[in-house]
Amino acid sequence: MHGRALVVGGGIAGLAAARGLLRAGWEVEVRERRGSPPDIGGALGLWHGSMAALDRLGLGERIRERAERPSRGVLADPSGRALVSVGRRGTNACLISRSSLLAVLLDGLPDGLVRWRTPVTEADVRGAGAFDAVVGADGIHSLVRRTAFPWAAVPRPLGTVAYRGTAPGPVGVASETWGRGRLFGVTPMDARTTNWFASLRTELLRGREDRDHVDLLRELYGGWHPVVTRVLDALPGTGVDRRELHDLPALASYVHGRHVLIGDAAHAMAPNLGRGACESLVDAAALADALGAEPAVGGALARYDRRRHGPTRRIVDASRALNRVSTAVRLHGPRNRAMGVLGHLL
Ligand SMILES: Cc1cc2nc3c(=O)[nH]c(=O)nc-3n(C[C@H](O)[C@H](O)[C@H](O)COP(=O)(O)OP(=O)(O)OC[C@H]3O[C@@H](n4cnc5c(N)ncnc54)[C@H](O)[C@@H]3O)c2cc1C
Repeated sequence: MHGRALVVGGGIAGLAAARGLLRAGWEVEVRERRGSPPDIGGALGLWHGSMAALDRLGLGERIRERAERPSRGVLADPSGRALVSVGRRGTNACLISRSSLLAVLLDGLPDGLVRWRTPVTEADVRGAGAFDAVVGADGIHSLVRRTAFPWAAVPRPLGTVAYRGTAPGPVGVASETWGRGRLFGVTPMDARTTNWFASLRTELLRGREDRDHVDLLRELYGGWHPVVTRVLDALPGTGVDRRELHDLPALASYVHGRHVLIGDAAHAMAPNLGRGACESLVDAAALADALGAEPAVGGALARYDRRRHGPTRRIVDASRALNRVSTAVRLHGPRNRAMGVLGHLL
């Protein structure tokens, strides 16, 4: 069927949904409260399923042209000893900067389709009668979810904080290093830039609340192996993004009437598996497929829900579990030994 959709939110999920719906023959309006795409640096790993979704949106090749492929992926301990190591085929991911992904999603959308600086209100969500479908792509604190799914639980803290940014200079290997209560990750971003992220249990911040981000990171990760130290040395003067991490308890359904949730609005997850943006792209393609194929909106949204609810819930749970294991404060030594044995077996 063809119809009119209001997409709330112009992030990865919202822009991808807009592209998919246009291809499916729908009329689309995106309303985004910001004046332009968010300027959060850093690279995103795009796994196989999300690349397939980008292919269905007609964007896969443009992403591949801009993406980096790490030569290897390594899980290490703070001394630099590799616990698990996989070759290029095992990493199976393209890495692309968030800003490049957003630029590709935006490029070629008709002028005026995205209405920037247009925050959607509760009244808009309740009264969007001119639209056949209202797509909540408005992130973890989604207004569409709070308004149209008032029974939905609120995001829950994971007890971890993430820092992320970029450092000058290339890196070929993607690595994650697990220590006591904290991890540090380094991946390629482009030919001139390294992407980094750090995550740690909030209890490690006690007594350090007033510390500058760079000083804090240098204190907590100082003495780790040279790949980490190189990034720490490059930090002064670069921007550091800090956020407390949350995920979203399960909703019974991502659909209520003509309201449908996609991306973080539906299933915000811990970043440890690097799957939040990936699943947002898969949601967008699945929603467009369903709305393009089914004769009625109700049937299409039910089809989207059947396809996406179960898989995304499993990834939320797995990401939460990995968040705990990778930043464990107790038994981190046996954990790393077990990972080493696993790496050896692999
Ligand atoms: C530290 C960290 C690292 C991550 N690393 C990865 C990774 O490596 N790989 C990966 O796949 N994922 C990663 N993610 C997850 C990924 O960033 C998210 O899953 C993804 O950005 C979700 O996109 P979204 O469009 O659903 O939500 P958002 O990016 O939050 O976009 C929502 C948009 O809606 C707008 N909005 C909100 N309310 C309104 C309103 N009322 N009216 C109008 N507009 C509104 C917002 O301004 C925003 O632009 C990471 C997340 C974090 C926190």
